[in-house]
Amino acid sequence: PTMAHSKALLVLENFIGGKFVPCSSYIDSYNPSTGDVYCRVPDSGKEEVEAAVKAAKDAFPVWSSKSPLERSQILNKLADLIEHDLEEFAQAESKDQGKTITFARTVDIPRAVHNFRFFASSILHHVTECSEMPAMGCVHYTSRAPVGVAGLISPWNLPLYLLTWKIAPAIACGNTVVAKPSEMTSVTAWMMCKLLEKAGVPPGVVNVVFGTGARAGEALVCHPDVPLISFTGSTRTAQRITERSAPHCKRLSLELGGKNPAIIFDDADLSQCIPATVRSSFANQGEICLCTSRIFVQRGIYSEFLKRFVAEAKKWKTGNPSDPTIDVGALISKEHLEKVRTYVRKAQAEGARVLCGEGVDPLALPPGNQKGYFMLPTVIAEVKDESCCMQEEIFGPVTCVVAFDTEEEVIRRANGVKYGLAATVWSGNVGRVHRVAHRLQSGLVWTNCWLVRDLNLPFGGMKASGIGREGAKDSYEFFTEVKTITIKH
Ligand code: NAD
Repeated sequence: PTMAHSKALLVLENFIGGKFVPCSSYIDSYNPSTGDVYCRVPDSGKEEVEAAVKAAKDAFPVWSSKSPLERSQILNKLADLIEHDLEEFAQAESKDQGKTITFARTVDIPRAVHNFRFFASSILHHVTECSEMPAMGCVHYTSRAPVGVAGLISPWNLPLYLLTWKIAPAIACGNTVVAKPSEMTSVTAWMMCKLLEKAGVPPGVVNVVFGTGARAGEALVCHPDVPLISFTGSTRTAQRITERSAPHCKRLSLELGGKNPAIIFDDADLSQCIPATVRSSFANQGEICLCTSRIFVQRGIYSEFLKRFVAEAKKWKTGNPSDPTIDVGALISKEHLEKVRTYVRKAQAEGARVLCGEGVDPLALPPGNQKGYFMLPTVIAEVKDESCCMQEEIFGPVTCVVAFDTEEEVIRRANGVKYGLAATVWSGNVGRVHRVAHRLQSGLVWTNCWLVRDLNLPFGGMKASGIGREGAKDSYEFFTEVKTITIKH
């Protein structure tokens, strides 16, 4: 690049012990909607992680001995500061990730703010257990204490949203943290670091090291002074993290991929179901772990559903993410776009029908976005259950629609994948809704709705979708160590 070009680049720095520190090497980060390199991200390794862990260890004694109320006030202040800069954060998230500005404004950043407020409040409401044993003259009670330095590793699809979903409970419970966001989406985490001091977060309580999974991520996972790792990302990376952390017997929370079914019975209210299922398939370019990618429709309504569903999907406009009228932005990277397209080609080769989107409809992009990583919402029908499109996580704007006959059959087919994160069931029959919900192998089941969350309740997946749950009580339990104390009187 020319001098003028390199000067225009945004250069991030690690945040260690309350200070921004440069790194000896950097990696390029792309703007997915233009294909240009616009940012340089520290390529941290062992050395930087070592410094961050040391800062977090040093900060632990003071932070962990603060009262929950003191910590709560700091979390609330941080929430206010992020909210004050909401527009700036939303613009940055959209540019860095490719997501639409509308999604960043209405989902990502408000949720990041809410994560801090939510845990600022919930930390004040936990009580521990007590059990009396009069015959023995004993009383038992439990006490909970923060664990120490928490390692937090997050993915690129909901960058600040998912990172703060870990940072907030970790520090609310009194831990100190070393966080590593995805190397592809590091900007909003760096912006948040600029607000920590003003919020009253003491130096060393939140440290952020930027870099790749192979270098910075592994250094964190293998560090002997980090007893706990909270990870959100792919199942493959989780397997690697499990292996690498095993010699240290680390506590792990793993939130992984999904291959989420939507089951639509013939008594479903299609006027609600169709727009909601288009949204659950294509929101955030289909890059949400909870997105629907297998739609099972009961035979009697199959053709009507397909017709209306495709018509609705075609209404979704793909283009420049900073245009507020756009519904589908850019995918995260060139490689990812290519991977998603390959799935569509494989389905075609296997005899499935692509009803709209990739390879079928023209994609017109503004001049500035010609090199961006765009793809139209794509609907595929008649895909075999054993096809890779019905088995593997695609993580893009692609959804498969197939027909089924009976309740028994659809439960078996819906459960016939290695994942078990989220499912949706559409039916007007309340008995059926409960029956099916109970039998689905899925950490979350939404009936007649999608993505409605109460953060008090457990979030997480079964089977290859993860280990552990997050939520008010679950995060509290994960980020604290419990002790049972017995007193004889
Ligand atoms: P990824 O597994 O490639 O990367 C996730 C994070 O792990 C990144 O920060 C990456 O740098 C880091 N990493 C990679 N290799 C590592 C290693 N060896 N050691 C330590 N860290 C390492 O996932 P991604 O592509 O960024 O994200 C997409 C995936 O995340 C999808 O599978 C999606 O379903 C999943 N996801 C799950 C949830 C959930 O809550 N269950 C939420 C969002 C995304």
